[in-house]
Amino acid sequence: VWNHCLDFIKDNIQPQAFKTWFEPIKPVKLSDNALSIQVPSKFFYEWLEEHYVKLLKVALTKELGETAKLVYIIKMENTYGNREPFTEKIPSSNRSHVEPQELDVAIKSKNPELKNPFVIPGIRNIKIESQLNPSYNFDNFLEGDSNRLARSAGMAVANKPGGTSFNPLLVFGGVGLGKTHLAHAIGVEIKDKYPERTVLYISAEKFTQQYIESVKKNTRNDFIHFYQLIDVLIIDDVQFLSGKSGTQDVFFHIFNHLHQNGKQVILTSDKAPVDMQDIEQRLLSRFKWGLSAELQTPDYETRISILKNKLYRDGVEMPDDIIDYVAKHIKTNIRELEGAIISLIAQSSFNKKEVTLELAQLVVEKFVKNTKREVSIDYIQKVVSDYFEMDVATLQSKTRKRHIVQARQLAMFFAKKFTKASLASIGSQIGKRDHATVLHACKTVDNLAETDKQFRKYIDDLTKKFS
Ligand code: ADP
Ligand code: MG
Repeated sequence: VWNHCLDFIKDNIQPQAFKTWFEPIKPVKLSDNALSIQVPSKFFYEWLEEHYVKLLKVALTKELGETAKLVYIIKMENTYGNREPFTEKIPSSNRSHVEPQELDVAIKSKNPELKNPFVIPGIRNIKIESQLNPSYNFDNFLEGDSNRLARSAGMAVANKPGGTSFNPLLVFGGVGLGKTHLAHAIGVEIKDKYPERTVLYISAEKFTQQYIESVKKNTRNDFIHFYQLIDVLIIDDVQFLSGKSGTQDVFFHIFNHLHQNGKQVILTSDKAPVDMQDIEQRLLSRFKWGLSAELQTPDYETRISILKNKLYRDGVEMPDDIIDYVAKHIKTNIRELEGAIISLIAQSSFNKKEVTLELAQLVVEKFVKNTKREVSIDYIQKVVSDYFEMDVATLQSKTRKRHIVQARQLAMFFAKKFTKASLASIGSQIGKRDHATVLHACKTVDNLAETDKQFRKYIDDLTKKFS
């Protein structure tokens, strides 16, 4: 039957169009005068519905009469959404790489042409595992001054995905400040409120791997179509895309498609858009369409409440002075804050004794030591000034004397290289410059490093002092 239909269709459309839109279709079964065909993607199905429905109808009616029905089955590549990391959500049955999704026969089509007897099913039940971790939710994402904006923007997005001006929502901030937690929380909340929406959480790294694989396997289009099915796309750590122009390009197309169709995009990054390097301008400008919200380092009160909450959830009691001590000494990373308290809980239950301040000091020291490894901008300025035998004030001064300018630029360069500070914050700490000056300094140093032997030696000497 299908071959006869194809012959008829072939005679009526351009060869190229036939090749693109009809050759990939596989007939699956014929029962009750309904022909099931398998198409490669939802996008494919929509295209057929939009452009070739009349033709299909005529062809099918010719073969099967007035009561003919057509059922679409969308082939889904299982490789994209699934696997890792929250395996408990993935059904234990070992799925094969291709899983056809039977679609309910229910009309939800906008196209009046599609009414009986020609039934094209509405698309339902497309199952994409969200990859969300339910233990990262809003309930246990404690609010404080440092995250209020980002948290409430996240809530707003979760209440009306795609329906706010926060699209995309970009959450940025340093390591361990809750970006991943908040990203999951938004997804979890959306799934809760709108179970029928397709939500996908994925790290930018994984996204990149999938993309590279799709290029290798010649399935780039399927990759794109897959992502275009999603209602809420959450990509974690987009700074990972820097310098990866192929992945940026494909993401740009996916982003545009989703955005145009009112779908929500949520991104996280360890840097503000102005500080992102090696990300294409057109992508950065898209990032700025929505809202960028920063997760800042938590203040003392927030740190205390995070610790208390953690203890409460684990059903562990701990003296206030210990909690206070931990909160006072671990300031810049919530993961470490949690790590320290978990380690204390473990030690106390292991040794079956109360945690003493002394033990707390030991544990905290371990955590703080690890973080102290990061060199500070003050330290960098001091070392560079010493090296060039000038004082820090001179290095920071407005003078344009060549060797001073160079020292200043080197300090900026190393601050960029060895700290996590933003360009803006480096600039403000090194003689109140703006981020553009810092960026310029970094580029100048890069250039000189290649062309000037003496300068190269400065960089090498100084690098040794910092690593
Ligand atoms: P990032 O992705 O920014 O590196 P994470 O989201 O992985 O940080 O957070 C690190 C840890 O800190 C996680 O265990 C997370 O649950 C916890 N955390 C971060 N922010 C909060 C918060 N506001 N309330 C409670 N826990 C938090
Ligand atoms: Mg993270």
